[in-house]
Amino acid sequence: MSTKITVIPGDGIGPEIMTATLRCLDSLGCDFEYEFKQAGLVALDECSELIPRDTLESIRKNRLVLKGPLTTPVGEGFSSINVSLRKEFDLYANVRPVISMPGTRSRYEDINIITVRENTQGAYLAADSKISDDGETAESKMVVTRAGCARVVHYAFQMARLAGRKKVTIVHKANILKTVSGMFLDIGREVAAGYPDIETEEMIVDATCMKLVMNPWQFDVIVTTNLFGDIISDLCAGLVGGLGLAPGANIGDGAAMFEAVHGSAPDIAGLHIANPCALILSGAQMLTHLGMDERANKLRMAIRATIVAGDRVTPDLGGHGDTMSFTDAIIDHL
Ligand code: NAD
Repeated sequence: MSTKITVIPGDGIGPEIMTATLRCLDSLGCDFEYEFKQAGLVALDECSELIPRDTLESIRKNRLVLKGPLTTPVGEGFSSINVSLRKEFDLYANVRPVISMPGTRSRYEDINIITVRENTQGAYLAADSKISDDGETAESKMVVTRAGCARVVHYAFQMARLAGRKKVTIVHKANILKTVSGMFLDIGREVAAGYPDIETEEMIVDATCMKLVMNPWQFDVIVTTNLFGDIISDLCAGLVGGLGLAPGANIGDGAAMFEAVHGSAPDIAGLHIANPCALILSGAQMLTHLGMDERANKLRMAIRATIVAGDRVTPDLGGHGDTMSFTDAIIDHL
């Protein structure tokens, strides 16, 4: 029986890079059935809702989503669609790997870091957000729970063990944010004690950023809270040549959603120069999630070979190609 996937092409460069990704998956002979659904600005235009009920029902049924980037309109009354989807389906572990690709113009080589970010609690959920009547004071509450911290740290250690990784760094700011970050660190220590085969390290978030720039090779797996994880994973993307190469998986116990780390890139939308790799690599993460490791690795190798060859890649990687030529080259390598 074929696997059904809810496909959300998304906004901006989303439809261009989604077409590229589905072509690659089809070239691998995956027996997938795609259920195309809308969300984001396109959905707002067509059905006056950022996440139509029909889209939510499709995800609830298929429990597997491949998603392009979505634009959340700026302004009051619109909460982030991405945050809402992660919350709705309890996709608590946001897994963002970065791996150096030879042939890119990045400043570093041989980087291989996975950031596991808590995805459903903390600063981005912005509980009780309000601005005072006089407009002078803004406030919002950060909430984490023991169970929420424990499950994401367990996920990071289990993933590290399965992937043959050696070390997990628990990133926090418990020295200042004593309750919220303090709880994450305490529970991180408790969970880590159950994984004696994996080295555990604790690091304050600001020092982590400095060390990532000075000596990124010391990192293996990083686990952290929502806001820190978002920032650190973009920093990590910068170590390997930018957002065009950074994929992400949002994992829950009942569903999983795969998407690029980058946004809808309105500045280059419609120019056909978007690098499709981040979403294609998210597709590879989806294949691994489905137990199709051989196909996932084949796809990663084809991307690598295409970037090494260099002639058909997009301008962000220093090439003169476009989204289509990049995708054609990957498929040729497959
Ligand atoms: P962005 O990631 O869209 O773009 C940042 C820069 O990186 C831009 O210069 C862009 O051209 C470039 N870039 C991004 N992806 C690229 C690619 N594949 N190939 C080549 N260049 C690429 O970030 P932004 O401009 O801050 O956000 C734009 C919109 O995206 C906002 O509405 C934001 O809310 C949304 N967003 C969505 C997601 C998501 O859906 N998961 C994530 C981040 C931002």
